[in-house]
Amino acid sequence: MRDAPIRILLVEDNPVHQRMIRGLLEESRRPRYEVDVVDRLSSGLDRFRAGAVDLVLLDLILPDSEGIETFLRFFSLARSTPIVVLTSLDDSGTAARAVEAGAQDYLLKARMDSSVLMRSIRYALERTRARSMEWSSPAFRLAHQQFLKAAQLMDLDDNVRQRLVFPARAQLVSLPFRRDRYDVVETVFGYRVQHILTMGPTKGGVRYHPEVGLGEVAALAMWMTWKCGLMRLPFGGAKGGIRIDPSELSRSELQRVTRRYTAEIVDMIGPDRDIPAPDMGTDEQVMAWMMDTYSQQHGHAVPAVVTGKPIELGGSPGRKEATGRGLVYLIREAARHIGLPLQGATVAIQGFGNVGSNAAHFVQQLGARVVAVSDVSTGLYAPDGLDLGDLRHHTELHRVLRGYPRAERISNEELLEIDCDILIPAALENQITAENAERLRCKMVAEGANGPTSLEADQILAERDIFVLPDVLGNAGGVTVSYFEWVQGMQNWIWTLEEVNRRLEQVLVDAFNRSMARAERDNIDLRAAALIEGIERVTGAMLSRGLFP
Ligand code: GLU
Repeated sequence: MRDAPIRILLVEDNPVHQRMIRGLLEESRRPRYEVDVVDRLSSGLDRFRAGAVDLVLLDLILPDSEGIETFLRFFSLARSTPIVVLTSLDDSGTAARAVEAGAQDYLLKARMDSSVLMRSIRYALERTRARSMEWSSPAFRLAHQQFLKAAQLMDLDDNVRQRLVFPARAQLVSLPFRRDRYDVVETVFGYRVQHILTMGPTKGGVRYHPEVGLGEVAALAMWMTWKCGLMRLPFGGAKGGIRIDPSELSRSELQRVTRRYTAEIVDMIGPDRDIPAPDMGTDEQVMAWMMDTYSQQHGHAVPAVVTGKPIELGGSPGRKEATGRGLVYLIREAARHIGLPLQGATVAIQGFGNVGSNAAHFVQQLGARVVAVSDVSTGLYAPDGLDLGDLRHHTELHRVLRGYPRAERISNEELLEIDCDILIPAALENQITAENAERLRCKMVAEGANGPTSLEADQILAERDIFVLPDVLGNAGGVTVSYFEWVQGMQNWIWTLEEVNRRLEQVLVDAFNRSMARAERDNIDLRAAALIEGIERVTGAMLSRGLFP
Protein backbone atom coordinates (compact mmCIF):
# COMPACT_ATOMS: atom_id res chain seq x y z
CA MET A 1 0.00 0.00 0.00
CA ARG A 2 1.14 3.53 -0.73
CA ASP A 3 2.51 5.39 2.18
CA ALA A 4 5.69 6.70 0.55
CA PRO A 5 7.03 10.08 1.66
CA ILE A 6 6.79 13.08 -0.66
CA ARG A 7 10.31 14.00 -1.76
CA ILE A 8 10.92 17.73 -1.69
CA LEU A 9 13.93 19.54 -3.06
CA LEU A 10 14.32 22.89 -1.30
CA VAL A 11 16.55 25.38 -3.14
CA GLU A 12 17.08 28.21 -0.66
CA ASP A 13 20.20 30.07 0.47
CA ASN A 14 18.89 31.81 3.59
CA PRO A 15 19.69 29.51 6.56
CA VAL A 16 16.79 30.87 8.64
CA HIS A 17 14.28 30.09 5.89
CA GLN A 18 15.93 26.74 5.26
CA ARG A 19 15.46 25.77 8.90
CA MET A 20 11.91 27.06 9.09
CA ILE A 21 10.69 25.24 5.97
CA ARG A 22 12.50 22.01 6.72
CA GLY A 23 11.10 22.14 10.26
CA LEU A 24 7.51 22.65 9.08
CA LEU A 25 7.76 19.77 6.61
CA GLU A 26 9.51 17.31 8.83
CA GLU A 27 6.94 17.84 11.58
CA SER A 28 4.22 16.41 9.38
CA ARG A 29 3.39 12.74 9.92
CA ARG A 30 0.78 12.36 7.20
CA PRO A 31 1.83 12.78 4.53
CA ARG A 32 5.48 12.43 5.38
CA TYR A 33 8.08 14.58 3.64
CA GLU A 34 11.69 13.91 2.82
CA VAL A 35 13.53 17.19 2.35
CA ASP A 36 16.82 17.76 0.55
CA VAL A 37 18.23 21.27 0.92
CA VAL A 38 20.70 23.00 -1.41
CA ASP A 39 21.63 26.67 -1.49
CA ARG A 40 22.55 27.39 -5.13
CA LEU A 41 20.85 26.99 -8.48
CA SER A 42 23.73 24.90 -9.84
CA SER A 43 23.62 22.44 -6.95
CA GLY A 44 19.80 22.39 -7.19
CA LEU A 45 19.99 21.42 -10.87
CA ASP A 46 22.58 18.73 -10.08
CA ARG A 47 20.46 17.34 -7.28
CA PHE A 48 17.39 17.34 -9.52
CA ARG A 49 19.26 15.47 -12.26
CA ALA A 50 20.12 12.76 -9.75
CA GLY A 51 16.37 11.92 -9.62
CA ALA A 52 13.72 11.06 -7.00
CA VAL A 53 12.21 14.54 -6.59
CA ASP A 54 8.42 14.95 -6.41
CA LEU A 55 8.31 18.72 -5.97
CA VAL A 56 10.72 21.65 -5.96
CA LEU A 57 10.47 24.60 -3.58
CA LEU A 58 12.52 27.27 -5.31
CA ASP A 59 13.76 30.59 -3.96
CA LEU A 60 14.31 32.90 -6.93
CA ILE A 61 17.13 34.99 -5.47
CA LEU A 62 20.18 32.77 -5.11
CA PRO A 63 23.92 33.50 -5.04
CA ASP A 64 24.39 32.20 -8.59
CA SER A 65 21.10 33.26 -10.23
CA GLU A 66 18.42 35.90 -9.74
CA GLY A 67 14.79 36.51 -10.59
CA ILE A 68 12.74 34.85 -13.34
CA GLU A 69 15.97 33.48 -14.82
CA THR A 70 16.24 31.12 -11.81
CA PHE A 71 12.80 29.75 -12.50
CA LEU A 72 13.26 29.42 -16.24
CA ARG A 73 16.51 27.53 -15.88
CA PHE A 74 14.95 25.11 -13.46
CA PHE A 75 11.76 24.75 -15.45
CA SER A 76 13.58 23.89 -18.66
CA LEU A 77 15.01 20.87 -16.86
CA ALA A 78 12.01 19.91 -14.72
CA ARG A 79 9.00 20.35 -16.98
CA SER A 80 6.86 17.62 -15.52
CA THR A 81 7.78 18.14 -11.87
CA PRO A 82 5.82 20.82 -10.00
CA ILE A 83 7.79 23.87 -8.90
CA VAL A 84 6.52 26.10 -6.11
CA VAL A 85 8.30 29.44 -6.07
CA LEU A 86 9.29 31.02 -2.74
CA THR A 87 9.23 34.77 -2.63
CA SER A 88 9.54 37.66 -0.25
CA LEU A 89 7.00 40.49 -0.42
CA ASP A 90 9.14 42.71 -2.61
CA ASP A 91 9.58 40.24 -5.48
CA SER A 92 5.99 39.01 -5.85
CA GLY A 93 5.92 40.42 -9.41
CA THR A 94 8.64 37.97 -10.39
CA ALA A 95 6.70 35.18 -8.70
CA ALA A 96 3.63 36.01 -10.76
CA ARG A 97 5.74 35.81 -13.92
CA ALA A 98 7.07 32.46 -12.79
CA VAL A 99 3.52 31.15 -12.29
CA GLU A 100 2.59 32.45 -15.72
CA ALA A 101 5.61 30.68 -17.18
CA GLY A 102 4.67 27.34 -15.60
CA ALA A 103 5.32 27.33 -11.84
CA GLN A 104 2.53 25.55 -10.00
CA ASP A 105 2.22 28.05 -7.19
CA TYR A 106 4.06 30.71 -5.22
CA LEU A 107 4.40 31.21 -1.51
CA LEU A 108 5.22 34.34 0.41
CA LYS A 109 7.81 33.37 2.97
CA ALA A 110 6.62 36.04 5.38
CA ARG A 111 3.12 34.55 5.49
CA MET A 112 4.07 30.93 5.53
CA ASP A 113 2.79 28.56 8.16
CA SER A 114 2.45 24.82 8.16
CA SER A 115 -1.08 24.62 6.75
CA VAL A 116 -0.36 27.14 3.96
CA LEU A 117 2.81 25.29 2.98
CA MET A 118 1.23 21.78 3.07
CA ARG A 119 -1.75 22.89 1.09
CA SER A 120 0.31 24.55 -1.57
CA ILE A 121 2.40 21.39 -1.96
CA ARG A 122 -0.63 19.14 -2.06
CA TYR A 123 -2.42 21.29 -4.63
CA ALA A 124 0.69 21.64 -6.76
CA LEU A 125 1.09 17.87 -6.87
CA GLU A 126 -2.61 17.41 -7.61
CA ARG A 127 -2.67 19.93 -10.39
CA THR A 128 0.34 18.38 -12.03
CA ARG A 129 -1.34 15.02 -11.92
CA ALA A 130 -4.65 16.41 -13.15
CA ARG A 131 -2.91 18.02 -16.10
CA SER A 132 -0.68 15.30 -17.34
CA MET A 133 -1.38 11.94 -15.79
CA GLU A 134 -5.11 11.52 -15.31
CA TRP A 135 -5.79 8.83 -17.86
CA SER A 136 -2.45 7.15 -17.69
CA SER A 137 -2.76 5.53 -14.26
CA PRO A 138 -1.39 2.00 -13.71
CA ALA A 139 -4.94 0.75 -13.09
CA PHE A 140 -6.17 2.12 -16.42
CA ARG A 141 -3.22 0.59 -18.24
CA LEU A 142 -3.99 -2.75 -16.57
CA ALA A 143 -7.72 -2.59 -17.38
CA HIS A 144 -6.79 -1.79 -20.99
CA GLN A 145 -4.24 -4.57 -21.26
CA GLN A 146 -6.65 -7.13 -19.79
CA PHE A 147 -9.46 -6.02 -22.08
CA LEU A 148 -7.27 -6.01 -25.18
CA LYS A 149 -5.97 -9.48 -24.37
CA ALA A 150 -9.52 -10.83 -23.93
CA ALA A 151 -10.67 -9.00 -27.07
CA GLN A 152 -7.90 -10.61 -29.03
CA LEU A 153 -8.62 -14.10 -27.65
CA MET A 154 -12.31 -13.77 -28.52
CA ASP A 155 -11.56 -12.09 -31.85
CA LEU A 156 -13.74 -9.12 -30.99
CA ASP A 157 -14.89 -6.86 -33.81
CA ASP A 158 -12.55 -3.88 -34.05
CA ASN A 159 -15.32 -1.23 -34.09
CA VAL A 160 -16.74 -2.64 -30.89
CA ARG A 161 -13.30 -2.91 -29.34
CA GLN A 162 -12.54 0.76 -29.99
CA ARG A 163 -15.87 1.77 -28.53
CA LEU A 164 -15.22 -0.08 -25.27
CA VAL A 165 -11.67 1.07 -24.59
CA PHE A 166 -12.72 4.46 -23.20
CA PRO A 167 -15.73 5.19 -21.02
CA ALA A 168 -18.87 6.62 -22.57
CA ARG A 169 -19.08 9.44 -20.03
CA ALA A 170 -16.70 10.91 -17.54
CA GLN A 171 -17.32 13.87 -15.32
CA LEU A 172 -14.59 15.61 -13.41
CA VAL A 173 -15.63 18.21 -10.87
CA SER A 174 -13.65 20.36 -8.53
CA LEU A 175 -15.71 20.99 -5.46
CA PRO A 176 -15.36 23.07 -2.32
CA PHE A 177 -16.32 22.08 1.20
CA ARG A 178 -15.95 23.81 4.52
CA ARG A 179 -13.66 22.39 7.18
CA ASP A 180 -14.75 22.43 10.80
CA ARG A 181 -12.53 25.49 11.18
CA TYR A 182 -15.10 27.81 9.65
CA ASP A 183 -12.70 30.04 7.73
CA VAL A 184 -11.05 27.17 5.86
CA VAL A 185 -12.56 25.96 2.59
CA GLU A 186 -10.91 23.04 0.79
CA THR A 187 -11.25 22.45 -2.92
CA VAL A 188 -10.87 18.83 -4.02
CA PHE A 189 -11.38 16.78 -7.19
CA GLY A 190 -14.34 14.45 -7.66
CA TYR A 191 -15.17 12.03 -10.48
CA ARG A 192 -17.99 9.94 -11.86
CA VAL A 193 -17.36 7.72 -14.86
CA GLN A 194 -19.96 5.63 -16.71
CA HIS A 195 -18.35 3.07 -18.94
CA ILE A 196 -21.22 1.75 -21.05
CA LEU A 197 -24.84 2.84 -21.23
CA THR A 198 -26.15 -0.08 -23.28
CA MET A 199 -27.23 -2.47 -20.59
CA GLY A 200 -29.56 -0.35 -18.46
CA PRO A 201 -28.52 1.99 -15.69
CA THR A 202 -24.87 2.03 -14.73
CA LYS A 203 -23.68 0.74 -11.39
CA GLY A 204 -20.61 1.05 -9.27
CA GLY A 205 -19.08 2.32 -6.07
CA VAL A 206 -17.72 5.63 -4.86
CA ARG A 207 -14.16 5.63 -3.57
CA TYR A 208 -12.60 8.18 -1.20
CA HIS A 209 -8.83 7.82 -1.31
CA PRO A 210 -5.82 10.14 -1.73
CA GLU A 211 -4.78 8.33 -4.94
CA VAL A 212 -8.13 8.55 -6.76
CA GLY A 213 -7.82 9.97 -10.29
CA LEU A 214 -9.68 9.85 -13.58
CA GLY A 215 -7.62 6.93 -14.88
CA GLU A 216 -8.21 4.81 -11.80
CA VAL A 217 -11.94 5.55 -11.69
CA ALA A 218 -12.22 4.79 -15.41
CA ALA A 219 -10.44 1.45 -14.93
CA LEU A 220 -12.73 0.56 -12.06
CA ALA A 221 -15.79 1.53 -14.13
CA MET A 222 -14.62 -0.73 -16.94
CA TRP A 223 -14.13 -3.65 -14.55
CA MET A 224 -17.66 -3.03 -13.23
CA THR A 225 -19.01 -3.45 -16.77
CA TRP A 226 -17.38 -6.86 -17.18
CA LYS A 227 -18.39 -7.89 -13.66
CA CYS A 228 -22.05 -7.00 -14.22
CA GLY A 229 -21.99 -8.69 -17.64
CA LEU A 230 -20.44 -11.83 -16.17
CA MET A 231 -23.06 -11.94 -13.38
CA ARG A 232 -25.81 -11.22 -15.95
CA LEU A 233 -27.01 -8.15 -14.09
CA PRO A 234 -28.89 -5.52 -16.13
CA PHE A 235 -26.26 -2.82 -15.53
CA GLY A 236 -23.33 -1.17 -17.26
CA GLY A 237 -20.27 -0.28 -15.19
CA ALA A 238 -19.61 2.99 -13.40
CA LYS A 239 -17.38 4.29 -10.66
CA GLY A 240 -16.89 7.52 -8.80
CA GLY A 241 -14.61 8.98 -6.24
CA ILE A 242 -13.08 11.94 -4.50
CA ARG A 243 -9.35 12.44 -4.18
CA ILE A 244 -9.27 12.86 -0.43
CA ASP A 245 -8.11 10.99 2.65
CA PRO A 246 -11.30 10.30 4.62
CA SER A 247 -9.37 9.33 7.75
CA GLU A 248 -8.26 12.97 7.98
CA LEU A 249 -11.83 14.29 8.06
CA SER A 250 -14.29 14.64 10.91
CA ARG A 251 -17.74 13.15 10.50
CA SER A 252 -19.27 16.54 9.74
CA GLU A 253 -16.58 17.30 7.15
CA LEU A 254 -17.22 13.93 5.54
CA GLN A 255 -20.90 14.73 5.41
CA ARG A 256 -20.34 18.15 3.79
CA VAL A 257 -17.95 16.86 1.13
CA THR A 258 -20.30 13.95 0.35
CA ARG A 259 -23.32 16.22 -0.03
CA ARG A 260 -21.48 18.67 -2.25
CA TYR A 261 -20.06 15.87 -4.42
CA THR A 262 -23.57 14.39 -4.80
CA ALA A 263 -24.96 17.78 -5.76
CA GLU A 264 -22.22 18.19 -8.39
CA ILE A 265 -23.01 14.86 -10.08
CA VAL A 266 -26.76 14.89 -9.42
CA ASP A 267 -27.70 14.97 -13.10
CA MET A 268 -25.70 11.84 -13.82
CA ILE A 269 -27.21 9.61 -11.14
CA GLY A 270 -30.70 8.25 -10.44
CA PRO A 271 -32.40 4.86 -9.99
CA ASP A 272 -32.81 4.54 -13.76
CA ARG A 273 -29.52 6.19 -14.66
CA ASP A 274 -26.60 5.37 -12.44
CA ILE A 275 -26.67 3.91 -8.94
CA PRO A 276 -23.68 4.53 -6.62
CA ALA A 277 -22.63 2.16 -3.83
CA PRO A 278 -19.86 1.97 -1.24
CA ASP A 279 -16.26 1.29 -2.20
CA MET A 280 -12.95 1.90 -0.45
CA GLY A 281 -13.26 4.76 2.06
CA THR A 282 -17.08 4.98 1.93
CA ASP A 283 -19.84 3.12 3.80
CA GLU A 284 -23.58 2.99 4.55
CA GLN A 285 -23.50 6.40 6.20
CA VAL A 286 -21.99 8.02 3.10
CA MET A 287 -24.71 6.31 1.01
CA ALA A 288 -27.40 7.66 3.36
CA TRP A 289 -26.08 11.23 2.87
CA MET A 290 -25.95 10.74 -0.89
CA MET A 291 -29.51 9.41 -0.89
CA ASP A 292 -30.70 12.32 1.26
CA THR A 293 -29.00 14.95 -0.91
CA TYR A 294 -30.48 13.46 -4.08
CA SER A 295 -33.92 13.16 -2.47
CA GLN A 296 -33.85 16.78 -1.23
CA GLN A 297 -33.30 17.93 -4.79
CA HIS A 298 -36.18 15.81 -6.09
CA GLY A 299 -38.70 16.68 -3.41
CA HIS A 300 -39.36 13.11 -2.28
CA ALA A 301 -37.43 10.16 -0.88
CA VAL A 302 -35.60 8.15 -3.56
CA PRO A 303 -33.95 5.25 -1.73
CA ALA A 304 -33.18 3.31 -4.94
CA VAL A 305 -30.66 5.96 -6.08
CA VAL A 306 -27.93 4.22 -4.06
CA THR A 307 -27.27 0.72 -2.75
CA GLY A 308 -25.36 -0.32 0.33
CA LYS A 309 -27.64 1.93 2.42
CA PRO A 310 -28.43 1.40 6.09
CA ILE A 311 -31.11 -1.29 6.48
CA GLU A 312 -33.68 1.13 7.94
CA LEU A 313 -33.42 3.28 4.80
CA GLY A 314 -34.14 0.36 2.49
CA GLY A 315 -30.74 -1.31 2.48
CA SER A 316 -30.70 -5.03 1.78
CA PRO A 317 -30.04 -7.60 4.45
CA GLY A 318 -26.62 -9.09 3.73
CA ARG A 319 -25.31 -6.25 1.51
CA LYS A 320 -22.59 -5.14 3.88
CA GLU A 321 -21.00 -8.59 4.14
CA ALA A 322 -21.83 -9.58 0.55
CA THR A 323 -18.40 -9.06 -1.05
CA GLY A 324 -16.57 -11.04 1.65
CA ARG A 325 -19.25 -13.71 1.78
CA GLY A 326 -19.33 -14.04 -2.00
CA LEU A 327 -15.56 -14.31 -2.18
CA VAL A 328 -15.67 -17.21 0.25
CA TYR A 329 -18.43 -19.03 -1.70
CA LEU A 330 -16.06 -18.86 -4.66
CA ILE A 331 -12.98 -19.85 -2.68
CA ARG A 332 -14.96 -22.94 -1.68
CA GLU A 333 -15.71 -23.74 -5.35
CA ALA A 334 -12.13 -23.05 -6.45
CA ALA A 335 -10.68 -25.11 -3.58
CA ARG A 336 -12.87 -28.02 -4.60
CA HIS A 337 -11.64 -27.60 -8.15
CA ILE A 338 -7.93 -27.75 -7.25
CA GLY A 339 -8.40 -30.35 -4.52
CA LEU A 340 -7.46 -28.12 -1.59
CA PRO A 341 -9.23 -29.06 1.66
CA LEU A 342 -10.40 -25.88 3.45
CA GLN A 343 -10.41 -27.53 6.85
CA GLY A 344 -7.11 -26.36 8.35
CA ALA A 345 -6.06 -24.37 5.25
CA THR A 346 -4.05 -21.22 6.04
CA VAL A 347 -5.13 -17.80 4.76
CA ALA A 348 -3.34 -14.42 4.51
CA ILE A 349 -5.40 -11.29 3.80
CA GLN A 350 -4.08 -7.94 2.60
CA GLY A 351 -6.59 -5.26 3.65
CA PHE A 352 -8.83 -5.43 6.69
CA GLY A 353 -11.66 -3.18 5.54
CA ASN A 354 -15.16 -4.36 4.77
CA VAL A 355 -14.08 -6.99 2.22
CA GLY A 356 -11.01 -8.35 4.03
CA SER A 357 -12.56 -8.57 7.49
CA ASN A 358 -15.72 -10.28 6.26
CA ALA A 359 -13.76 -12.69 4.07
CA ALA A 360 -11.69 -13.56 7.16
CA HIS A 361 -14.82 -14.27 9.14
CA PHE A 362 -16.51 -16.45 6.51
CA VAL A 363 -13.41 -18.39 5.50
CA GLN A 364 -12.80 -19.23 9.14
CA GLN A 365 -16.35 -20.57 9.37
CA LEU A 366 -15.35 -23.10 6.71
CA GLY A 367 -12.54 -24.36 8.94
CA ALA A 368 -9.63 -22.35 7.52
CA ARG A 369 -7.13 -20.51 9.72
CA VAL A 370 -6.40 -16.82 9.12
CA VAL A 371 -2.68 -16.44 9.86
CA ALA A 372 -1.98 -12.91 8.57
CA VAL A 373 -3.86 -9.68 7.92
CA SER A 374 -2.79 -6.13 7.11
CA ASP A 375 -4.08 -2.61 6.57
CA VAL A 376 -2.47 0.78 5.83
CA SER A 377 -1.00 0.91 9.33
CA THR A 378 0.72 -2.50 9.60
CA GLY A 379 0.60 -6.23 8.92
CA LEU A 380 0.09 -8.91 11.58
CA TYR A 381 1.22 -12.52 11.54
CA ALA A 382 0.33 -15.38 13.88
CA PRO A 383 1.18 -18.83 12.47
CA ASP A 384 -1.29 -20.56 14.81
CA GLY A 385 -4.12 -18.31 13.66
CA LEU A 386 -5.37 -14.84 14.60
CA ASP A 387 -8.27 -14.32 16.99
CA LEU A 388 -10.64 -12.45 14.65
CA GLY A 389 -13.07 -11.32 17.36
CA ASP A 390 -10.20 -9.80 19.29
CA LEU A 391 -8.87 -8.11 16.14
CA ARG A 392 -12.23 -6.60 15.31
CA HIS A 393 -12.50 -5.32 18.84
CA HIS A 394 -9.07 -3.68 18.40
CA THR A 395 -10.01 -2.01 15.09
CA GLU A 396 -13.33 -0.77 16.52
CA LEU A 397 -11.38 0.96 19.28
CA HIS A 398 -8.35 2.17 17.29
CA ARG A 399 -9.62 2.23 13.66
CA VAL A 400 -6.44 0.49 12.42
CA LEU A 401 -4.50 -2.69 13.19
CA ARG A 402 -1.41 -0.88 14.48
CA GLY A 403 -0.75 -1.54 18.14
CA TYR A 404 -2.42 -4.98 18.25
CA PRO A 405 -0.27 -6.87 20.72
CA ARG A 406 -0.99 -10.56 20.14
CA ALA A 407 0.77 -11.07 16.79
CA GLU A 408 4.09 -10.48 15.08
CA ARG A 409 4.33 -7.23 13.06
CA ILE A 410 5.07 -7.62 9.35
CA SER A 411 4.98 -5.28 6.36
CA ASN A 412 2.42 -5.42 3.57
CA GLU A 413 5.10 -6.75 1.20
CA GLU A 414 5.97 -9.53 3.63
CA LEU A 415 2.33 -10.46 3.99
CA LEU A 416 2.03 -11.13 0.27
CA GLU A 417 4.98 -13.51 0.42
CA ILE A 418 3.89 -15.49 3.48
CA ASP A 419 3.74 -19.25 3.27
CA CYS A 420 -0.02 -20.00 3.18
CA ASP A 421 -2.62 -21.87 1.15
CA ILE A 422 -4.81 -18.92 0.14
CA LEU A 423 -3.73 -15.33 -0.35
CA ILE A 424 -6.53 -12.75 -0.48
CA PRO A 425 -5.54 -9.30 -1.76
CA ALA A 426 -8.42 -7.11 -0.54
CA ALA A 427 -6.92 -3.64 -0.74
CA LEU A 428 -5.61 -1.61 -3.66
CA GLU A 429 -4.71 -2.28 -7.27
CA ASN A 430 -1.31 -3.34 -8.50
CA GLN A 431 -0.05 -5.31 -5.52
CA ILE A 432 1.08 -8.57 -7.15
CA THR A 433 3.50 -7.66 -9.91
CA ALA A 434 6.32 -9.13 -11.98
CA GLU A 435 8.57 -8.05 -9.14
CA ASN A 436 7.06 -10.20 -6.36
CA ALA A 437 4.98 -12.88 -8.16
CA GLU A 438 8.00 -15.18 -8.18
CA ARG A 439 8.13 -15.08 -4.38
CA LEU A 440 4.47 -15.81 -3.56
CA ARG A 441 4.13 -19.00 -1.55
CA CYS A 442 0.42 -19.79 -1.76
CA LYS A 443 -1.67 -22.26 -3.75
CA MET A 444 -4.45 -19.81 -4.59
CA VAL A 445 -4.78 -16.04 -5.03
CA ALA A 446 -8.41 -15.02 -4.39
CA GLU A 447 -8.90 -11.41 -5.49
CA GLY A 448 -11.16 -9.37 -3.22
CA ALA A 449 -9.65 -6.10 -4.49
CA ASN A 450 -10.14 -4.79 -8.01
CA GLY A 451 -7.07 -5.10 -10.22
CA PRO A 452 -4.55 -6.33 -7.62
CA THR A 453 -2.56 -8.47 -10.08
CA SER A 454 -0.63 -7.27 -13.12
CA LEU A 455 -0.73 -9.21 -16.39
CA GLU A 456 2.95 -10.10 -16.10
CA ALA A 457 2.27 -11.47 -12.62
CA ASP A 458 -0.69 -13.48 -13.98
CA GLN A 459 1.70 -15.14 -16.40
CA ILE A 460 4.22 -15.98 -13.66
CA LEU A 461 1.52 -17.33 -11.35
CA ALA A 462 0.17 -19.51 -14.17
CA GLU A 463 3.65 -20.93 -14.82
CA ARG A 464 4.01 -21.63 -11.11
CA ASP A 465 0.64 -23.40 -11.03
CA ILE A 466 -0.90 -20.96 -8.56
CA PHE A 467 -4.67 -20.77 -9.06
CA VAL A 468 -5.99 -17.21 -9.54
CA LEU A 469 -9.62 -16.45 -8.72
CA PRO A 470 -9.92 -13.17 -10.66
CA ASP A 471 -11.50 -9.97 -9.29
CA VAL A 472 -14.45 -9.83 -11.67
CA LEU A 473 -15.59 -13.12 -10.16
CA GLY A 474 -14.05 -12.91 -6.71
CA ASN A 475 -15.48 -9.59 -5.55
CA ALA A 476 -18.72 -9.65 -7.56
CA GLY A 477 -20.77 -10.54 -4.47
CA GLY A 478 -20.99 -6.85 -3.59
CA VAL A 479 -22.59 -5.66 -6.79
CA THR A 480 -24.77 -8.76 -6.98
CA VAL A 481 -26.42 -7.99 -3.64
CA SER A 482 -26.50 -4.32 -4.70
CA TYR A 483 -28.60 -5.51 -7.60
CA PHE A 484 -30.89 -7.35 -5.16
CA GLU A 485 -31.13 -4.18 -3.09
CA TRP A 486 -32.04 -2.13 -6.13
CA VAL A 487 -34.71 -4.66 -7.18
CA GLN A 488 -36.16 -4.63 -3.65
CA GLY A 489 -36.12 -0.81 -3.68
CA MET A 490 -37.88 -0.53 -7.05
CA GLN A 491 -40.58 -2.93 -5.82
CA ASN A 492 -40.77 -1.80 -2.18
CA TRP A 493 -40.33 -5.43 -1.25
CA ILE A 494 -37.94 -6.70 1.40
CA TRP A 495 -36.29 -10.10 1.12
CA THR A 496 -34.97 -12.17 4.00
CA LEU A 497 -31.26 -12.67 4.61
CA GLU A 498 -31.63 -16.36 3.72
CA GLU A 499 -33.18 -15.47 0.38
CA VAL A 500 -30.45 -12.93 -0.38
CA ASN A 501 -27.68 -15.38 0.46
CA ARG A 502 -29.25 -18.25 -1.46
CA ARG A 503 -29.62 -16.12 -4.59
CA LEU A 504 -26.13 -14.70 -4.18
CA GLU A 505 -24.63 -18.17 -4.01
CA GLN A 506 -26.61 -19.25 -7.07
CA VAL A 507 -25.48 -16.28 -9.19
CA LEU A 508 -21.81 -16.59 -8.19
CA VAL A 509 -21.53 -20.35 -8.55
CA ASP A 510 -23.21 -20.18 -11.94
CA ALA A 511 -20.73 -17.51 -13.12
CA PHE A 512 -17.83 -19.55 -11.74
CA ASN A 513 -18.97 -22.69 -13.55
CA ARG A 514 -19.48 -20.87 -16.85
CA SER A 515 -16.06 -19.21 -16.61
CA MET A 516 -14.34 -22.45 -15.62
CA ALA A 517 -15.99 -24.36 -18.47
CA ARG A 518 -14.88 -21.73 -20.96
CA ALA A 519 -11.34 -21.68 -19.59
CA GLU A 520 -11.07 -25.44 -19.99
CA ARG A 521 -12.73 -25.55 -23.37
CA ASP A 522 -10.64 -22.77 -24.89
CA ASN A 523 -7.50 -23.56 -22.90
CA ILE A 524 -7.19 -20.03 -21.49
CA ASP A 525 -6.74 -18.70 -17.97
CA LEU A 526 -9.73 -18.13 -15.72
CA ARG A 527 -9.37 -14.31 -15.77
CA ALA A 528 -9.50 -14.19 -19.54
CA ALA A 529 -12.43 -16.62 -19.56
CA ALA A 530 -14.39 -14.60 -16.98
CA LEU A 531 -13.68 -11.34 -18.84
CA ILE A 532 -14.79 -12.87 -22.13
CA GLU A 533 -18.03 -14.08 -20.49
CA GLY A 534 -18.68 -10.48 -19.39
CA ILE A 535 -17.56 -8.84 -22.64
CA GLU A 536 -19.63 -11.21 -24.75
CA ARG A 537 -22.78 -10.33 -22.83
CA VAL A 538 -22.16 -6.61 -23.36
CA THR A 539 -21.17 -6.79 -27.02
CA GLY A 540 -24.14 -9.07 -27.73
CA ALA A 541 -26.44 -6.39 -26.29
CA MET A 542 -24.65 -3.63 -28.24
CA LEU A 543 -25.02 -5.48 -31.51
CA SER A 544 -28.74 -6.21 -30.92
CA ARG A 545 -29.47 -2.58 -30.17
CA GLY A 546 -27.55 -1.39 -33.22
CA LEU A 547 -25.89 1.99 -33.69
CA PHE A 548 -27.70 5.30 -33.30
CA PRO A 549 -28.30 7.18 -35.60
N1 GLU B 1 -17.68 -1.06 -5.08
C1 GLU B 1 -18.08 -2.43 -5.25
C2 GLU B 1 -17.34 -3.06 -6.41
O1 GLU B 1 -16.27 -2.65 -6.79
C3 GLU B 1 -19.58 -2.58 -5.34
C4 GLU B 1 -20.28 -1.81 -6.39
C5 GLU B 1 -21.79 -1.84 -6.27
O2 GLU B 1 -22.31 -2.46 -5.37
O3 GLU B 1 -22.44 -1.20 -7.11
O4 GLU B 1 -17.75 -4.05 -6.97
